[in-house]
Amino acid sequence: MIPYGRQDISQEDIDAVTAVLKSDFLTQGPAVPRFEQTVSNYCDAKYAVAVNSATSALHIACLALGVGKGDVVWTSPITFVASANCALYCGASVDFVDIDAQTYNMCPERLAEKLAEAKKIDKLPKVVIPVHMCGQSCDMERIYKLGQQYGFKILEDASHAIGGRYNGLPIGNCQFSDIAVFSFHPVKIVTTGEGGMAVTNDEHLAKRMRVLRSHGISSALEDMHERSPDEIWNYQQIELGFNYRMTDIQAALGNSQMVRLDDFVTRRQFLAMRYESLLSNLPIITPIQRANQYSAFHLYVVRLKLSDTNRNQREIFESLKDRGVIVNLHYIPVYRQPHFEKMGFLAGYCPKAEEYFSEAITLPLYPGLTEFQQDQVASSFEMALS
Ligand SMILES: *Cc1c(COP(=O)(O)O)cnc(C)c1O
Repeated sequence: MIPYGRQDISQEDIDAVTAVLKSDFLTQGPAVPRFEQTVSNYCDAKYAVAVNSATSALHIACLALGVGKGDVVWTSPITFVASANCALYCGASVDFVDIDAQTYNMCPERLAEKLAEAKKIDKLPKVVIPVHMCGQSCDMERIYKLGQQYGFKILEDASHAIGGRYNGLPIGNCQFSDIAVFSFHPVKIVTTGEGGMAVTNDEHLAKRMRVLRSHGISSALEDMHERSPDEIWNYQQIELGFNYRMTDIQAALGNSQMVRLDDFVTRRQFLAMRYESLLSNLPIITPIQRANQYSAFHLYVVRLKLSDTNRNQREIFESLKDRGVIVNLHYIPVYRQPHFEKMGFLAGYCPKAEEYFSEAITLPLYPGLTEFQQDQVASSFEMALS
């Protein structure tokens, strides 16, 4: 069986985790700030806040950006549900901007049109969440300019994209955003088991997210309300927060994985280029990588040219599964999920996203995929299409 994604764990990773297990701190120790430092240095962002998942990171990022009841947040329909749920957790509503047919990222032209319409009816979004689908950055310069024009904040869902580059610079440097979020789930580029991180260049946003990840508690003197001098508490809960902390066990694994991040992405890029030539004669569209982009290649998504094959999407999925190749579909447009349909979203709302959904298939791609296995995937795919 060849899965669509899989973690890569080395003896060094195991040793790093074991060392924490034998140390004094399993959580709230030194490994978490060390991992935060590693990631913020790597991305060239000033601050990093580690949490127990990217979902948690998106939630506290939205709260730090002031999202609340009555606000609207916009994201891409082609993403994991967490990119939209974070707005709902804050009591805000969510809306979707259709994708670009080539990159599968939020379409900047469609965003511009939708903003112009929203301005007329005074329903501009407070935050826009572009998602770097498959590891290739969105057109952040364009989105940033629209943000300046219309006054929304930008939260990058970079769950797929650590190790990728945009205009030659690391994704997550927040040059064109307020906050960027990474996921460390095992299928992503680097893993901590479960885990996530928010990076930002804004000191206040970082501080607010640190408070929110740990119950809303602060021990910074400037945050504390004045109390009787007899009280010996050295911290105060200053707002309602959560326990979204990452453990030191996870952070040690993450730190150890970061050593191999560039190798992981190089390998993913190599395998993606190799797929490109292995699959060149099949009735499919392979991913494009724009000139100013270096994708982290979290996912290798191809689109079926359904008019050039007698098989339908389901038959191709089943046929690959029967041959031991576990393909996947990333993603059903979020608004087609029953929970979102209940809010009134209808099929057909984002036509490009729906078209993509009817043709997409994610082939296996992960650093440990051997070239022999990749050849097997390619030949199984060819048979499935014939
Ligand atoms: C995986 C993923 C998330 C959620 O990540 P977790 O760490 O599992 O919470 C959010 N957004 C996107 C685009 C993802 O792929």
